[in-house]
Amino acid sequence: MTARIIDGKAVAADLRQRIAARVATLGYRPGLRVVRVGDDPASGVYVRNKDKAAKEVGFDSATIALPATTTEAELLGVVAQLNADPAVDGILVQLPLPPQIRADIVISAVAPEKDADGFHPLNAGRLASGQPGLVPCTPKGVMHLLAASGAVLPGARAVVLGRSNIVGRPMAQLLLAADCTVTIVHSRTRDLPAECRRAEILVVAVGRPEMVRGDWIAEGATVIDVGINRLADGKLVGDVAYAEAAARAEAITPVPGGVGPMTIACLLENTLDAAIARRK
Ligand code: NDP
Repeated sequence: MTARIIDGKAVAADLRQRIAARVATLGYRPGLRVVRVGDDPASGVYVRNKDKAAKEVGFDSATIALPATTTEAELLGVVAQLNADPAVDGILVQLPLPPQIRADIVISAVAPEKDADGFHPLNAGRLASGQPGLVPCTPKGVMHLLAASGAVLPGARAVVLGRSNIVGRPMAQLLLAADCTVTIVHSRTRDLPAECRRAEILVVAVGRPEMVRGDWIAEGATVIDVGINRLADGKLVGDVAYAEAAARAEAITPVPGGVGPMTIACLLENTLDAAIARRK
């Protein structure tokens, strides 16, 4: 069996088109501000892609680029201005931040109703307690991919490999909210392959190139690979050994072209939702 490929590019393009259609009916342009501190090259690419995608769907989007020497107080000042600006609906502070700035302090300073990344502790708490709020973009994108792939979630055994605040934890909460039976596995889990083999839905966000091998996958599983790892030769690979896994899974996301494109589309979706909620 060779797995069906879950085409993240196509699902993301469809979502962006639906967002653009809704923006066209609003009578105003949702405002997104992306704050970038320093000149980390990978962050530069992400920020440019976010800005481009936001403009394409009709948002009022701008990037605020601050020098690597910016202090925490200066960054908090910029965040406070954006919080107070009525034209701004979504704020995103691109991570990682330079070492003199504490990311958790900055994340907590973003107004929760403008928290386009969904990282504010209030939004994390809302997600964990089943209340509506802004949800982190990557796991939200995974839920769209699962829906598009036709996966039946209620009652399904879902395993999430990784427990970061950005991906693993919110992913597990979203799957739980969708009535899956959820297991979270991590670096202290005793028998990772055995835990993963129990999964009907396996979401991997571990940051280790091709760590999940084919024999960790149950026949017929749906495999979502969040990992993006660049090898020494420049090739991009996921956290799952793709060819081996595709021989056992029923459906699988490729890297690139799987979860990656969904993250930006969901950032746009969050900003649109934030705009509609704020301006109603
Ligand atoms: P983190 O490094 O924050 O978290 C990794 C998690 O994996 C941790 O919970 C860690 O466990 C666990 N882990 C690490 N090594 C092992 C191991 N050997 N065995 C078992 N568990 C392990 O990463 P992120 O969640 O931020 O990102 C994960 C991956 O997803 C990365 O490849 C990243 O590039 C990618 N990513 C992709 C995005 C996209 O848009 N597609 C967006 C965000 C991330 P413990 O907690 O015990 O240390």
